[in-house]
Amino acid sequence: MKVLITGGGGFIGSHLSEELLSRGHEVFILEPGGTTKIRHLIGHPKFRVVHDSVMDMGILDSLISQVDLVYHLAAVVGVEHYVGDPYQVLNVNVNGTQNVLKTAFKYGRKVVFSSTSEVYGRNPNLPWSEDDDRVLGSTRIDRWCYSTSKAVGEHFCFAYHKMGLPMTIIRYFNIFGPRLDKLDAGRIITIFMGQLLRNEPLTVIGDGLQTRCFTYVSDAVTATANAGLQDDTNGEIYNIGTDVETSILELARRMIAISGASSEIEFVKQEDVYGQSYEDIGRRVPNATRMKEQLGVRELAPLDEGLRQTIEWFREEHK
Ligand code: UDP
Repeated sequence: MKVLITGGGGFIGSHLSEELLSRGHEVFILEPGGTTKIRHLIGHPKFRVVHDSVMDMGILDSLISQVDLVYHLAAVVGVEHYVGDPYQVLNVNVNGTQNVLKTAFKYGRKVVFSSTSEVYGRNPNLPWSEDDDRVLGSTRIDRWCYSTSKAVGEHFCFAYHKMGLPMTIIRYFNIFGPRLDKLDAGRIITIFMGQLLRNEPLTVIGDGLQTRCFTYVSDAVTATANAGLQDDTNGEIYNIGTDVETSILELARRMIAISGASSEIEFVKQEDVYGQSYEDIGRRVPNATRMKEQLGVRELAPLDEGLRQTIEWFREEHK
């Protein structure tokens, strides 16, 4: 099969490219950014990189007309963007998604839309099943622009699905692994990683009792690939993540233990890191039943194993 991965040069896209190539598929990626995460795939006979963006309808048209399936992963993601540049978050995530869906609809190609656990916002009733409510704060709080942008994307998916477009929505829960973001930026694991490599204190916000379900990238990628390749996923939403909950404090302790670094833990105030325009989420846990039963990911990698692989990779990269 021929597939297009938008944002294929990013963290999950680079792993998904590897997975699909290893299953014998032909992979086109559309990537406006750098290619360091996919440099090892360049030259593969079934792999092609197009340096452009989902904001360009002409490129989308020529690519989507040639493929059988589209994984739409391109998005502006990361807390620093939600609070630093909400316009870009909304523009790319809403208009870019609309461009992809419009073109896929024109050619009748299935789309897998990468959404997020953020769509549930701070719904206090955990774990979250796919059809549960979204509970969000004020539009003055920039954090919610990402959640909202992805929810608009999901609504577009359902609207096009009603008109006949095959589509599947996947919602990622704190995916991590080698090639995640870049050191000191993006998500908590890369922030802690940078601090660990310099033996600096790990900055835990608040009391560190807020939790996440850290999901190793290989499991997320297996589920993602299957969501596109299986016929029985059409019109469905899937939570993609482990249901094992870990507090940020526990994460910091484990990362220090596994890495052997001499870092300590420093408790910091949220406002000092993100300013006033941010609101943290206390707990985030998926109901993972649908993913486990339908997407071929029953046993997920234990956190320590994933952390070991990730820490080793970042160490090698930053020697
Ligand atoms: N966090 C922290 N220290 C930092 C940065 C983030 O303790 O230096 C916490 C943050 O408050 C949140 C969690 O780590 O509770 C996960 O944050 P991340 O940015 O990875 O994304 P989120 O899961 O909130 O989307």
